[in-house]
Amino acid sequence: MAQPVARLDNIQKETYSRNILVSEIGEAGQLRLAESRVLLVGLGGLGSSALCYLAAAGVGEIGIADGDRVDRTNLQRQILHGPADIGRPKTESARESVLKLRTDLRLNLHPFRLTPENAARTIAPYDFVIDATDNFDAKFLINDVCVGQGKAFCHAAAVGLHGQAMTIVPGKGPCYRCVFQEKPPAETVESADRVGVLGCVPGALGIIQAAEAIKYLVGCGDLLVGRLLTWDLRTMAFREIGLPLSKRCKACDSNRHSRPER
Ligand SMILES: [Zn+2]
Repeated sequence: MAQPVARLDNIQKETYSRNILVSEIGEAGQLRLAESRVLLVGLGGLGSSALCYLAAAGVGEIGIADGDRVDRTNLQRQILHGPADIGRPKTESARESVLKLRTDLRLNLHPFRLTPENAARTIAPYDFVIDATDNFDAKFLINDVCVGQGKAFCHAAAVGLHGQAMTIVPGKGPCYRCVFQEKPPAETVESADRVGVLGCVPGALGIIQAAEAIKYLVGCGDLLVGRLLTWDLRTMAFREIGLPLSKRCKACDSNRHSRPER
């Protein structure tokens, strides 16, 4: 957890009064948010809305990891960045945008792509991770490191007019690798670069990820653990697919061996 906050000051009480009025959150939940650290990996369409809502909700410390620079084709969905940011590192433009929402936010910039060499130490200090990436290498890497560290995270993906999300709490339900096993062949992958994506889809899914993080940190409600939530924007149908724990998952298996207390 981040620097302990003994109690909310008067400005915090006023700023978060509408959160605090929600019975499941209250002042105790708001304090927990203020003491929490969340890592957000990916500052694209998912990350844009997730970051704004996590910051506005009062999460004390947020890390943002992305090695990309802003491109003109990003702007229809990645609302942290504007035309003047084209060519700038996404971590820089995201910092400017989010600090307008929260001047007291402790924001850590990780201006690089997660790799097998740097992922464990980047993820380790945080209480919860948001996987807002757009590629399978990053998704399996985040999963395997988080499962190995026993760390909860929320996965989401968006393409075309479809999105999906699920939350992984190691030891409490299946992980991303339990469900999707291995990276699919490149020619079968639908990506925003190939088939497009309407900005509303990752925008809504990023808010769902922020909500899952807040619920986990506060300790309220039922998380999307063991449940894949899918959203079809054409019909506005939300569906849930129940997911079993895989008996043959490499990530969960090595976690079981390295964490004998489970
Ligand atoms: Zn697994």
